[in-house]
Amino acid sequence: MLKTAPLRESDLLVTLYTETHGRITAVARGARRSQKRFAGGLQLLVLGRFQLGRRPRGDLWALEGVDIVRDWTQLASDVVAVAHASYVAELVGALLPAEVPDADALAMVIALWDSLAEAGPSPGALRAVELALLDIGGHRPALDGCAACGNNELGAGAVFDPSRGGAICRSCAAGSRGAGIRPLDPATLAYLREVAVLGAPGAARAVDTDPRFAPSDRTAARDAMIAMVQQLVGKPLRSLEFIAKLGAAGRRNEREGS
Ligand SMILES: [Zn+2]
Repeated sequence: MLKTAPLRESDLLVTLYTETHGRITAVARGARRSQKRFAGGLQLLVLGRFQLGRRPRGDLWALEGVDIVRDWTQLASDVVAVAHASYVAELVGALLPAEVPDADALAMVIALWDSLAEAGPSPGALRAVELALLDIGGHRPALDGCAACGNNELGAGAVFDPSRGGAICRSCAAGSRGAGIRPLDPATLAYLREVAVLGAPGAARAVDTDPRFAPSDRTAARDAMIAMVQQLVGKPLRSLEFIAKLGAAGRRNEREGS
């Protein structure tokens, strides 16, 4: 279960990522009035078996009922965990085509929820999910060679250019102009490559404490991935703005010693 939104007076529009149909949108009739029929299943962080009605003439699916299989809703009291889960839900909506099932995408969402429940929010875990969903959506950023010429030499002078597909070598960097382009430090590149190698969110959290990487590498890697996502989506993601606000509030609290 990825998202719900009010629909008309009494219905909810729900977004699901399903094993059989991929990402779908369904109407849960009457769910704004009573969710008894859906047994607490209409919320983020729930994995369930959803009974879907047939679509009359290509209209929306109808959601008839839910059996909860697993839920991670105990995370609801952790605002940062919920923000990370919401961001990933928004990424699934923005990067993956509707109604194209992909088992890896479903597994990645569940792996992130597991990782949040086991060890809390992690920037490394979030980068792993971003990379995986970009890959599944056909937009894997180039990290091993220049996206323009294939040159493996990505040392000094390399940039990250989301509109050209990722890392760009020094010689090709002159052709990079426009929004979202940023210098690509070798350590930032190493950080992103390490996340890609680790793969799963639970494993990728190792980069959070890896002594080879400084906090500035983490920030630069995040900004590069977000630039890639924004370039593809073409509009700001609401959940990202929320995470940024949480981050700013956290830094303020640290300064004030609370
Ligand atoms: Zn090049």
